Amino acid sequence: MTKPSLTLYLAAPRGFCAGVDRAIKIVEMALEKWGAPVYVRHEIVHNKFVVDGLREKGAVFVEELDECPDDRPVIFSAHGVPKAVPAEAARREMVFVDATCPLVSKVHIEAERHFSNGLQMVMIGHAGHPETLGTMGQLPDGEVLLVETVEDVGGLEPRDPKKLAYITQTTLSVDDTADIVAALHQRFPGIVGPHKEDICYATTNRQQAVKEVAPHIDALLVIGAPNSSNSKRLVEVGRAAGCPYTQLVQRASEIDWRALEGVTSVGLTAGASAPEVLVAEVVEAFRERFDVSLDVVETAVERVEFKVPRILREPA
Ligand code: SF4
Repeated sequence: MTKPSLTLYLAAPRGFCAGVDRAIKIVEMALEKWGAPVYVRHEIVHNKFVVDGLREKGAVFVEELDECPDDRPVIFSAHGVPKAVPAEAARREMVFVDATCPLVSKVHIEAERHFSNGLQMVMIGHAGHPETLGTMGQLPDGEVLLVETVEDVGGLEPRDPKKLAYITQTTLSVDDTADIVAALHQRFPGIVGPHKEDICYATTNRQQAVKEVAPHIDALLVIGAPNSSNSKRLVEVGRAAGCPYTQLVQRASEIDWRALEGVTSVGLTAGASAPEVLVAEVVEAFRERFDVSLDVVETAVERVEFKVPRILREPA
């Protein structure tokens, strides 16, 4: 039986960013240096495939520091942690390695700088996301006001409307954030913003590639976890850019093939915490069902790399 023809547009860049790559390397190097078990507070990155792989090598994932023994190393995830967490690890004299992405740490530093200049912070982010909790936890309670939507801006009650600055989560939708920032400037004309926006290069590039692909396709598949902020944003960006159907899938086995019946062009991308091996798996699954032509749509080339912390580069 002949297979139906299908063009698969592979968005580029897609998948792992430099912060995720570094965080995974940190866990692997910690296991090499100290042996198993190495504890990791929170999923190191939001991807089950990655987390399961590290678990098999001896990483133990916990939600809170009090689940870790004092005498084993602990790693903090790429999303960042409230200040109280490393402080507690130091108090317990634990060996700890911070895998917070340097681009998240940059936002933490920004928040502290504004705080020391007497400004109250508005954070644009998602309530309950580990990055938001980590960034808000850099400053004392009440110093960071969270907004998630343009509507939230109207409800803000700052201490002094003339002494405000804003920061953002790194994995937001570029377009939605621009609307929230505009609403902040309208309501608080003196509000201070970042020199360059806090949404990171990887988030921006992956969204741009989806925007480029979306007008050419019948459906978009985003490989990513349901709790991955940047992956969920890619689904929204695809929809907003005109793609009639989008699916977030963790891997090939989750694809709803019935929904793809009759399509002739599909876009494929992956969130910043999804490994390329899962992209290859999805491409293979399409090849089994369709006569596939691959077309790579590249909108940027990324050469960002981050060093692992010194403690892992030194001998044990
Ligand atoms: S998505 Fe951006 S901020 Fe988050 S880990 Fe990757 S590079 Fe860092």
